[in-house]
Amino acid sequence: MRKFVIMGVQGSGKGTQSELLCDGLELVHISVGDIFRWHVQKHTKLGAQVRRIMNAGELVGDDLVESVVRERLDQHDWNYGFVIDGFPRNGRQAEFFMESYDIDGVIHLELPEDEVRRRVLSRRLCPNCGMDYNLIADRPKRDGRCDICGHELITRADDTPEALEARLSDYNEKTRPVLEKFRRKEYVHDIDARPSVEEVQGKIRAALHLPPHQAATGS
Ligand code: AMP
Repeated sequence: MRKFVIMGVQGSGKGTQSELLCDGLELVHISVGDIFRWHVQKHTKLGAQVRRIMNAGELVGDDLVESVVRERLDQHDWNYGFVIDGFPRNGRQAEFFMESYDIDGVIHLELPEDEVRRRVLSRRLCPNCGMDYNLIADRPKRDGRCDICGHELITRADDTPEALEARLSDYNEKTRPVLEKFRRKEYVHDIDARPSVEEVQGKIRAALHLPPHQAATGS
């Protein structure tokens, strides 16, 4: 059983790297942000509670976050383990998590803030299948359309300059101390998030002593 936490500033590639890390290792990717986005998109009661907070780039209250995480992990569909992304984001969440689960490793994706701004503001998302794109590095083949399902791409409501600044300041004030807490337990692997997606994945797997990722195309 492998339980990993992936941390890093917005736009550092946590979602993409988590997916690749799960690939071939039977791990389950748990993204708290994706769970909330699903609720917003489906207009659930929870979605209505978090929509405004998310769009402003603020953090959802700890009680709500903890109940969502508990409910998700209680599904126990992660026989081989999980990669949790976007959680914990502050001291209280870290304590809640560490009380209930032992962590095998924390991956910290490092990215300078000027690169964060460049990446986040050019990010686009397919609201239908969840695929994400970047207008600089990973453009869709047809402008504004998803390569996988053809749906029109959108900008995440919290990928605006104002919301990004709010998220960056929360990250620096609340999430960085969590990283230091984990660091004291010697779980943290610092990984430079600037190289290519596959290169970053290679470094993550090497740090965690895991077999290399096999690309689906076999090329
Ligand atoms: P993310 O995709 O991880 O950037 O999350 C998107 C948004 O969901 C965040 O800006 C928060 O509003 C909310 N969110 C996700 N994870 C958490 C968390 N652990 N604590 C509080 N809010 C969260």
